[in-house]
This record gives sequence, structure tokens and C-alpha cells, in this order.
Amino acid sequence: MKRNTDEAILKDPVCNMQLSPSSAIEELQYQNRTYYFCSELCQKAFIEDPEKYIPHHHQP
Ligand SMILES: [Zn+2]
Repeated sequence: MKRNTDEAILKDPVCNMQLSPSSAIEELQYQNRTYYFCSELCQKAFIEDPEKYIPHHHQP
């Protein structure tokens, strides 16, 4: 497997599409994390209801 440290695999939290930082169309800072989106539509959906799309982890 080829691994390029510059191109982390990211996931569009709305449609679950795999993205890289260079292929992401939109990005958004939310709660100290950066989310990437394949399109403006996905970004808008996220902004309207972020909790629906954020994976829930245990947070201190
Ligand atoms: Zn998307």
C-alpha cells in the first residue's frame, strides 16, 4: 500500500465520501476540528445539523 504523509485520508462526514485535503471542496472548523466536504451542499447540511454527522467519541 502506498502511503503519502501529505495526503491524509479524510472523510466527508455527510456523505462518507473519501477525500484528501487537496480534493476537498469545502472545509469547516467546528469544535476545534476541521471537517472536509466534497461539496458546498454537504457543508451546508453539516452546518444545519452538525451533531447528526459528527462521530461520537468519549470526550473529557
Ligand atoms: Zn459529500
